[in-house]
Amino acid sequence: MALIVQKYGGTSVGSPDRIAAVAEKVAGMRAQGHNIVVVVSAMSGETDRLIKLAKSVSDVPPARELDVLLATGEQTTIALLAMALTRIGCPARSYTGHQVHILTDSAFGKARIQDIDARRVHGDLNQGRVVVVAGFQGVDEEGNITTLGRGGSDTTGVALAAALKADECQIYTDVDGVYTTDPRVVPKAHRLHRITFEEMLEMASLGSKVLQIRSVEFAGKYKVPLRVLSSFVEGPGTLITYEESDMEAPLISGIAFNRDEAKLTVRGVPDKPGIAAQILGEIGKANINVDIIVQNVGADGTTDFTFTVHRGEYQKAMGVLKQVAQALKAREVVGDDKIVKISVVGVGMRSHAGIASQMFKALADEGINIQMISTSEIKISVVVEEKYLELGVRALHSTFGLDRPDEAA
Ligand code: ASP
Ligand code: MG
Repeated sequence: MALIVQKYGGTSVGSPDRIAAVAEKVAGMRAQGHNIVVVVSAMSGETDRLIKLAKSVSDVPPARELDVLLATGEQTTIALLAMALTRIGCPARSYTGHQVHILTDSAFGKARIQDIDARRVHGDLNQGRVVVVAGFQGVDEEGNITTLGRGGSDTTGVALAAALKADECQIYTDVDGVYTTDPRVVPKAHRLHRITFEEMLEMASLGSKVLQIRSVEFAGKYKVPLRVLSSFVEGPGTLITYEESDMEAPLISGIAFNRDEAKLTVRGVPDKPGIAAQILGEIGKANINVDIIVQNVGADGTTDFTFTVHRGEYQKAMGVLKQVAQALKAREVVGDDKIVKISVVGVGMRSHAGIASQMFKALADEGINIQMISTSEIKISVVVEEKYLELGVRALHSTFGLDRPDEAA
């Protein structure tokens, strides 16, 4: 008998019918003899509706009150699901975050979970009940309701699974797993059976938005096996887990990409200590996150300095950079917001040489110019012109043997 935490996202509980379908699924699992804890999101669109409602009353709603409001979305769903379960003869009880003591810090809107008191949940499970817990919410030390940030129910699920020492945390969503890349870009992409936490973090932060990134970090830290599956289509989904020494790791697990990139270059800055710190210091002060950073080898006592930012912050970064450039007496500032980042990800590359050259050759064969390169232990990223995104991703997907063999697409 296993203890399983199942999390159902907003689409999965988006209507009374769907809630009834989730109840059937949960009751079926329980009938197999498992202990089940269910975490639910608000019904699809509900959180957005509540945010709009708040904005219609106040331009800048107080963060504390916004959290009180947003937490009602999940509170609605837990009650409805517990009702649906009871109706089909499956004993169930619903709890808000507060009621199961999901203790968080007081950062309203982006609170972090610090502790969970699992006793109440265990008590109900021992009584043979299914426990339904509201995702996305907690309570701080003063008893204020907090929320965990958009998509935060994933993190509630994982945190509960960790606290309960569950055998698995299953995230039910509208996709049937994690794919080698976005199937809309590469129709031959296929679902991965398993992927490591580290790889998933690289894939997720690069734009494969299946799970809230924090939930994957959490799962990795507490070694909670995490499974992503569809609530609509039967199947094993994708297991996200730690690397086993005897695991035959594929060289490359996936091709991730990010369309929201822009790059900025400041040319002819003095090649001396402190310049990079000064440039990025100002960018940081403006609260702009920097991704890839490249500095050229200096010549004639000056050098060029290039970095990428989120495309939405391009104009802002440009403004800051022009000011810094003036102060540094740099030659000029140039930028380009028609660039994208493509990355190959795989723990297998730790023990294999030659992945980079294979990647660059595949891009060269398609006539794609590489503008910037950055690497980590399990990832190689390149920045290329936006118009080459699809071509580049497809070429790499096929070069690294990820194309589904069965179908010509
Ligand atoms: N309801 C929240 C949101 O829409 C939390 C979640 O669904 O995970 O972001
Ligand atoms: Mg979600």
